[in-house]
Amino acid sequence: MDLTIFVTYRCNARCIMCNIWQHPSLPSVEITPEVLSRQLPDDVFNKITLSGGEPTLRSDLLELVRVLLSKGRRIEIISNGLKPEKLIEIATRYPSTIFRISLDGRASIHDEMRGTPGAYELAMRSIQGLLDQGVSNVGISLTLGEKNLSDLMPLYELACSLGIEMSVTVPHNSFYFHKEDNAIADQPAWAAEFRKYIHALLHSRRPSLKLRIKDWFRAYLSYGLLLHVLRETRPLPCSAAEAFCFIDPAGDVIPCHGMAKKMSMGNLKEQSFEGILHSEAAGKARKVVSACQNRCWMMCTAVPMMKKNILPVVWWIAKNRFMG
Ligand code: SF4
Ligand code: SF4
Repeated sequence: MDLTIFVTYRCNARCIMCNIWQHPSLPSVEITPEVLSRQLPDDVFNKITLSGGEPTLRSDLLELVRVLLSKGRRIEIISNGLKPEKLIEIATRYPSTIFRISLDGRASIHDEMRGTPGAYELAMRSIQGLLDQGVSNVGISLTLGEKNLSDLMPLYELACSLGIEMSVTVPHNSFYFHKEDNAIADQPAWAAEFRKYIHALLHSRRPSLKLRIKDWFRAYLSYGLLLHVLRETRPLPCSAAEAFCFIDPAGDVIPCHGMAKKMSMGNLKEQSFEGILHSEAAGKARKVVSACQNRCWMMCTAVPMMKKNILPVVWWIAKNRFMG
């Protein structure tokens, strides 16, 4: 199972596609390393992602990473990159940490989308600082919107030139984002950019075989986004609360962050994670998931589903890469 922990809802960015920053959590109620240490099982999770809000606003982030290293095989931090020194501190202490830094386009576009002057420069400083520190898994996390559609391919070229990964997402509406007005207006323009990107990924020219193969799988992820943009059925069934789940800053274990209303399966401050997963509330949540008609397709939810359905994914890659 993959786990994402929203360690805080505080945020130092002012993004146009997300209103989390308007709804900060109180530091005094945020889940502590002690609770996570006590309530999460050891060595069960494939990957634990620390997200937010902005994780670097947690003053105990080093301690959170230390505790979670015994719980998951890989630890990932998703950050807006506005605090390079904090990220580099984590990398120095825990170099196996995976880092994904938000980057939405050239400087002016990125700063506009993040609502933060100077955000681009800081994000680039974070990426370069992590690479200089010798971190092997650094990546760009791109949120695509109407404003930066044409930045998709240049950002992919930047990722290739830096030898790093790039994940792409599109704005969603949900209780988590506090958004209802994210929309994909110019569908044909979006679809054309995604088709170009999928083709580039499938015919990746990265020198590293590992990154080339990862690009093929990212092509499938992008194919899911293309279907999302076209409002077609998602390529794989959702397995929230089975292949993945989330913990919010207050300690509530939730199946996903894509629903219109938050659904809690239990609180980690009161129950163990395993107790919550076997609870009646979790059973109800899985029923809601199996009936859910949302077509959301986000990295943290799509990747575990791809792992669970690896054969159709590999078949799609083979068909489109080698027989297309
Ligand atoms: S998208 Fe991320 S960086 Fe931007 S406001 Fe939301 S939580 Fe903060
Ligand atoms: S499709 Fe899955 S991840 Fe998306 S809102 Fe529904 S249950 Fe959540």
